Amino acid sequence: MIRNVLLASIGALALASCATGPGGVSATAVEPVQSQDSYYVAAHAAVNMRAAERGAPRAKNVILFIGDGMGIATITAARIYAGQAKGVDGESYRLAMEQLPYSALSKTYTHDSQVADSAPTAAAMTTGVKSYNGSLGITQAANIRDCASAKTNYATSLWEIAEDAGLATGVISTARVTHATPAATYARTTQRDWEDDSNVSPEGKAAGCLDIASQFLAWNHGDGMDVILAGGRAQFLPNTVADPEYANQKGDRTDGRNLMDEWKAKRPNRATVADKAGFDAFDWKGSGQILGLFEPSHMQYDLDRNARQEPSLAEMTTKAIQRLSKNPKGYVLMVEGGRVDHGLHAGNAARALGDATALDEAVAAAVAATSKSDTLIIVTADHSHTLAIQGYPDRGNPILGLVKEGGELTKARDGKPYTTLSLANGPGSVCKEQPDKKYLCDRADLTNVDTTTKDFLQQSLTPLGSETHGGEDVAIFAGGPGANLFSGTVEQNEIFHVMAKSLRLVK
Ligand SMILES: [Zn+2]
Repeated sequence: MIRNVLLASIGALALASCATGPGGVSATAVEPVQSQDSYYVAAHAAVNMRAAERGAPRAKNVILFIGDGMGIATITAARIYAGQAKGVDGESYRLAMEQLPYSALSKTYTHDSQVADSAPTAAAMTTGVKSYNGSLGITQAANIRDCASAKTNYATSLWEIAEDAGLATGVISTARVTHATPAATYARTTQRDWEDDSNVSPEGKAAGCLDIASQFLAWNHGDGMDVILAGGRAQFLPNTVADPEYANQKGDRTDGRNLMDEWKAKRPNRATVADKAGFDAFDWKGSGQILGLFEPSHMQYDLDRNARQEPSLAEMTTKAIQRLSKNPKGYVLMVEGGRVDHGLHAGNAARALGDATALDEAVAAAVAATSKSDTLIIVTADHSHTLAIQGYPDRGNPILGLVKEGGELTKARDGKPYTTLSLANGPGSVCKEQPDKKYLCDRADLTNVDTTTKDFLQQSLTPLGSETHGGEDVAIFAGGPGANLFSGTVEQNEIFHVMAKSLRLVK
C-alpha cells in the first residue's frame, strides 16, 4: 500500500515538493485501507482540487478541537455568555475560535441518518469516511448488525497513521475516554456503547468483539498514544476494585482486568494519574507518557468543577502541547469539550455554555502555545442540537434570562414570559404526562423564576427524556498551515483529508 509519493497525482507532486517542512522532517505518505471507500475518494478529490488551486502548506502539528454538539446557536450564545461573564458587551465579543482566520460549514449527515450521533461524525473526522450511526472506525461496507464485520471493514485513523509515522499523539476529553469522540481515534466497533466488557452482549463476546477500553489497551501503533487525559476510570477498573476518588464506587469491568495498571506496565516511562495533584506532579517537559483519568465517568461540567480535583480543559491542553512538542516530527492532538452535548441533552443551557466557554479557553491556550507557521488548529463540532435564540431581547439582556424588550418582559400569547434560549424538545418540555397518560401542554410561568441559575432547564415543546441532536451544518474554524483548505460548505469527512494532507501523512 505504500507507493512512492512521486508516482501519484499532480496534487501529490506539489505535496512531495514541499514534503520537507519545518524542522527538516519528512514522512512517508501512506494510502490507508479505506482509500477505496466512496466517501474517502470524493473527499480526497475535493480537498486535492482546492489544494491544487490554493496551495497546501505543510503542517508539522495538528490540533483538532471538537465541541461535542456545539452547533452555531450554541457558539453564538457562548459568545454572549463569555462576554457578559467578563463584564463586556456580549454581542460583539469574539471567542478565540472566532478569531481563527478561516471558516467553513460542515455537513454532518452519516451513511444512514440525516441527524448524526457522535460516533460516526467523530470517525468521519479521524478516518475520512462517513459510516453508520452508533459505529466507530468502520466503513459503509461493514454490517452494522454484525459486530465481527468491524474486524474486516475498518478504517485507519489519523492517530494510528501518525503514530506509525513516528509523530506524537494525544487525546483529551472531558467525557469518558471510551466515549464516542475520543474513541474515534483508536476504536473499531459497530456498537459505541460497548465501552467496557460489562456492556458487550453475549453474542458479541462469542463473536470475539472487544469492548472499547480493551481496544485502547490493544492499540498497537508506534509507541502508543503519549498523552491521554479524560474521564472514564470505571471502564478501566474491575468491579472488585474501589475507585481511588470515591471509596463507595467500584470499577465496571467484569473480566477482572485493571487496564490502568496494564497500560502503565506495557512500556517503560508511563504514568497513570487520577487527580489534579497527579496531573501537576507529572514531568510535562520529559518524554514520559501519561494516562490521566480524572473521574469514574465523565469529568465534571466546568461550572461544577473542583479546580483542586480536576484540571481544566485549557490546563490539559497547555500541558499536552508542552509534552507532545518534544517530538521533532510533530504531533496530532484531539481536544474534546465532550459535555456541551450533555448539557444540551439535559435541557440545561447554562452548563452547556459553561463547557463551550471552557473549550474556547482551551483554544486560546493552544493558539498562545503554538506557532501559526507550523501548527494547524481546527475547531468544529460533530453535530448540532436543537437550541434556538429567540424573541427580540434588548441588547445586553442576560443570555440565560427572560426576553425583555425596552426593559419590559415580553409576554407570549399565554400571558407568560419566555427565555431567550429554548430547545425544540427534551426534558424541559412544557407538555407533561397526566394521570390518564395523556399529555397536557401548559407552560410554567417564569415571571418570578431566576432562569440564569445553572440548574434551570430551558423550556421545550416535544417531551423527550433527553433532548436530541440537530441536523443542520456546524461550523469549522481554522488557522495555520492547511487552514486555507476550509471554505464554503464541506463534507465533515474532508476534515480528515485536510489534516492528513497538511501533515503529508496520506497520499
Ligand atoms: Zn449527544
